[in-house]
Formats: sequence, structure tokens, C-alpha cells
Amino acid sequence: MTRARDPKGEIRIAERTMPRGERTHVAVPVLTDLDGSEVALHIHAVVGAAPGPVLALLAAQHGSEWLSAEIVRRIVDTLDPKAMAGAVLAVPVANPVALATLTRNVRDESDSPDLNRAFGTEQAWIADQLALAVTTHVLSHADAVVDFHCGLWGAAMGSVTCGRDYKDPTVSERAFQMARAFGLPHIRRSDFATRFPGPRSAVGYAGQVLGIPGIASEVGGAGFDPELEEAWLQTNVRGVHGVLQYLGILPGQPPVPDRVMIFERVQRINPTRGGMLEPVFPPEDLMRREVPAGALLGRVWSPYTFEVLEELRAPFRGLVDMVGRHYPVRPGDWAYLMVDLDHPGTRWLGANEMP
Ligand SMILES: [Zn+2]
Repeated sequence: MTRARDPKGEIRIAERTMPRGERTHVAVPVLTDLDGSEVALHIHAVVGAAPGPVLALLAAQHGSEWLSAEIVRRIVDTLDPKAMAGAVLAVPVANPVALATLTRNVRDESDSPDLNRAFGTEQAWIADQLALAVTTHVLSHADAVVDFHCGLWGAAMGSVTCGRDYKDPTVSERAFQMARAFGLPHIRRSDFATRFPGPRSAVGYAGQVLGIPGIASEVGGAGFDPELEEAWLQTNVRGVHGVLQYLGILPGQPPVPDRVMIFERVQRINPTRGGMLEPVFPPEDLMRREVPAGALLGRVWSPYTFEVLEELRAPFRGLVDMVGRHYPVRPGDWAYLMVDLDHPGTRWLGANEMP
């Protein structure tokens, strides 16, 4: 599955060869902003002693999801390049401009403020230039990609998603195998390439245009019990180790569960009115406890009058794949997301069964 790269199997980033058996940090200049600051893409290359496939890790494409940078730091820390056949190219902050303002998107007036919708564009807006840099310096070397979306303060998610609609069906198959190797008992399959988040997202573009399989990990969040947050971080570290084993970069077999539940239909249950979110469904039960249709997940109360403005209830029988903590919400803000257990796309697969 190794992609064509230079004949010696070397990885060259911005004219530098990444040495075998070592970790190298490289900062590639990307753009000059209006305040005169230079924005760089920081890449941590962990190159194994032996050649092999390359896994790209992307984090903080959305600046508000900064916890994902910590996940990547932990993963890079756990890797021993001497024991690897292949490489990891890790980008802890894909969108430094949005991180600086702690916002999801770049705060400009452009056509493409969202980096995760700016891949494959031909414009020169900030997000377009960042996407091009990620493509040129990271994805062009990669055989697979894991993109982290979590860590939005006050909200946490609990699953991994793979696309099922790539024009090359083998890309969809490999993406599913990566998701299974991540080791969670549930996998979300979506029309990643053609619907949401679409072919201009990093993983959608990688799969649809570059033919590179990928998954999005949306496990974890910030602002919760420290032990719970630590468990989510560890899930991500273990998950990527499983993916590295699946790819053959690390020795051994990924610890694949005996069966996995695949699902397609999810629905957001977000407030329509601004106020203070008071959670009822506990974050510990994320993707663990089934709730019946109509169950109360949380309420929104007014910080002015103290009256309850809205009750957020389960629209169907399902698992809760996103929770919010007690925090202020604007209309439409992140609160809950549920997996529909009665949808025909929800079913269990055995360890070697493909969807
Ligand atoms: Zn995100």
C-alpha cells in the first residue's frame, strides 16, 4: 500500500530529508498575515528505522478544538522510531490562525473561513493556503490519515467516523478497516466524500481526490472530570496505535473487538434558544447507555429570569454521541447528538465482517 515517493523511500519536507530512526520537527513557512506575523505549519516527523507506509495525523483544524493538539503530543511521545517500519507525520495545529483567536474558523471575511472545507480550492485566503500546505507537505507523503476533531471546551464526543462513498471503493474499505483497528465498539459510516463534511474536508479530499483512506476521531472534549478526560485521551492514543498496527508501521495485530456496531443516522439535539445548558445525561455514559425516545438529555435556562427556556429530549431510542457540560449556549450551539439505534443502517458486524 506504500505510495510512490522518491526512489530511496525518503520523506523530504521543504527540501529537508527526514532522517530514519528519528523524530524531527520542521516548521514550514506558509503565509504572512496583515500584522506582519509569519504563519508556519509545524510538522513532527517520526520516521522509522525501516521504510514503510506513512500515517498523517492532523489536529486543531478547528481552533476551538485545541485539545486535539494534546492528543497528538501524547501520540508522538509514545512512538519509538527505532521500532517502526514507516513513518508518522503529525501536525498538532493545522490551523494556527484560528487557534490564536480560539475560534473554530479563521476570523476573516473570506469565502473559505473553515480550513476543513478549504482543501483543493484554488484561492489564496488564509484557510486555502493552510490547506495547500497540509496537502503539499503532509498528505502528499501519506498512505493514510487520522484527523482529530474534539476538545471544544464544554462539549465532548464519543466516536470515530469513516467514509463509505469514495469513488474508489477500496478507499472506503481501507477507511473502515482503519476505523475498526482504532478499537472502539461503534463506528460511524457516513457519506464523507460527497455529503458531510464533503470533498473539501481534509479526510474527504484525501480519500476522494488523493485516494488516501482516512478516519475522523471525535473522541473527547475539555471541561469535564479530569479522569474522564484522561480516559478519552488514552482512547485516542490506543486507537492510533491500533491504526499503526493495521498499517504495519508498528508490529503486532490491532486489538479488534469481537463485534462492532456500525451506524449511519445521527441527529443533533441542540438548543434553539440561548441560555445556560444544564446537563441531565451524564458525560460518563457517552456511547454507553441506551436512552429511550423522549428521555430528557438537558435543559436550557435563562441566566436573566432563571426560567427553563427549553428541554432537550431524545428524538428516538439511541446512544448519546455528544454531550455538553454546564455552560452557556447560543442558539444552535453544541449540546447533544444521538445515534439512531432503530435505523436500518445500524447493525452489528463480526470481527472479520465487512459492511
Ligand atoms: Zn472540528
